[in-house]
Amino acid sequence: MAYELSKKKAFVCDLDGTLFMGPNPIPPAVDFVIRTTKSGRFRFFFLTNNTSKNPSEYLKKISGAAIPVDESQILTPLITLESYIRQKGYKSVYLVSTVAVKQHMAERLADAGVTLEYDPEQNELIALTYDKELTYEKLRRITALWNMRNGANAAVGLRSIAGAPVDFVATHPDNCCPSEEGPIPDVGGMLKLLETTNGMKPSHVFGKPSPTLLEPVLANFKKEEITVVGDRLYTDKAIADNAGVDFICVLSGETTLADLEKYQGTPPALTLNHFGEVERY
Ligand SMILES: [Mg+2]
Repeated sequence: MAYELSKKKAFVCDLDGTLFMGPNPIPPAVDFVIRTTKSGRFRFFFLTNNTSKNPSEYLKKISGAAIPVDESQILTPLITLESYIRQKGYKSVYLVSTVAVKQHMAERLADAGVTLEYDPEQNELIALTYDKELTYEKLRRITALWNMRNGANAAVGLRSIAGAPVDFVATHPDNCCPSEEGPIPDVGGMLKLLETTNGMKPSHVFGKPSPTLLEPVLANFKKEEITVVGDRLYTDKAIADNAGVDFICVLSGETTLADLEKYQGTPPALTLNHFGEVERY
């Protein structure tokens, strides 16, 4: 079915490669977002798997490009993590994150009485984010917690702590983060390091391509009114497919026409050089 812009009400935009290239806005894409936000034609949401920053840092980046935005429009797996902790009723979480993200999560969870410190006797959950301040000590604590609480140590006579096993989640699956210096390690790489160490694996991995990230959008719009826009097929298109909404592939980032020719899945609803071209439809 042909893509009909007239039926759309909400766009979920990837940031890097779609609206920004590194720190710089992609002008025609950003102009379209600014104009149609101001006219009230579309509602925009901004999607990122990057949990090394708290949402207010993204607010700064997006509003720095003159796009009118508030925190409810920023979709990051930190929101999913918060609702997971609330749903499970966890009170003691070992949050592996940057200082800024820990501060943000502590504020978000203040009313729920949740502590986010390492506490081998009490921790119910290990939550791994894209911690750009990761140290060997944090890696040691994660594996020690798992070993002591999840039965492996007891079996071989090492220190163990009786009680419920500790749960383990990660905010997103990305193996690497694109940078001006090429790919650098992200959560996927950290997960592989942990699994190689003692076999531990997360019970849940949030973020793209998990459609849970789109819940705030799906709660307010019909599926046929929503379009996801992005430059990566295996994350941005995958989340659109998993949520059952249209996907626009932009060639302003990672994916090339040659990648699209080789792509085995259903084709994107539209392929554009940059997001500004959507106005033609
Ligand atoms: Mg991207």
